[in-house]
Amino acid sequence: MFDAKKWRGLVEGATCPMCAGADSGLFLADLPSSRIILQNDGDFPGYCILQYKRHVTELHELSREERAQWVEDVAAVATAVQNVCEPYKINYAVLGNLVPHLHCHVIPRRPDDGCWGQPIWARPAGSERRLTADEYFELRERLRSVLKSGVS
Ligand SMILES: [Zn+2]
Repeated sequence: MFDAKKWRGLVEGATCPMCAGADSGLFLADLPSSRIILQNDGDFPGYCILQYKRHVTELHELSREERAQWVEDVAAVATAVQNVCEPYKINYAVLGNLVPHLHCHVIPRRPDDGCWGQPIWARPAGSERRLTADEYFELRERLRSVLKSGVS
C-alpha cells in the first residue's frame, strides 16, 4: 500500500537509501556525475546502476550540462560492459518509482538470460542467481580496468 509520508521522505532525500549508501558494498567506480554500482547478478553479469551523485529525482531537474555529463557516464559504463561481457544487447532503464533518486540501470542482455524479450523484472522472484565471490571480484576488476582506460 502506498505510504505518502514514506514517499515524501524518499523524494526529499531524508530517507533515501541511495544517499545513505545502501549499496556501497557493491561499489564499482566513481564517474564525474555518478557513483557506479555493480550488481551481484549471475543471470545478468555486468548489470550496473549509475546513481546520480546528488539527490535529484527527475532527469529534467538537471542542467543541460549535467544531463550531457550523465549521458556520457551512462555510455562509458555501457562501453565497459559491452567490452567485458559481450552481451547481445544492452538495456537502459530509468525508473525511480521505488527509489526516487535519479539512477539508470545498465543491463547486459543475452538470449539465454531467462527473460529475453521482457524486462529483467519479469524474472520470477526468488530465482535470481548470484555470482561467486571470485566471479564477482574478477568481473569488477575487469570493468574497473576498462573504465579507467577510458575506452569509448
Ligand atoms: Zn538520494
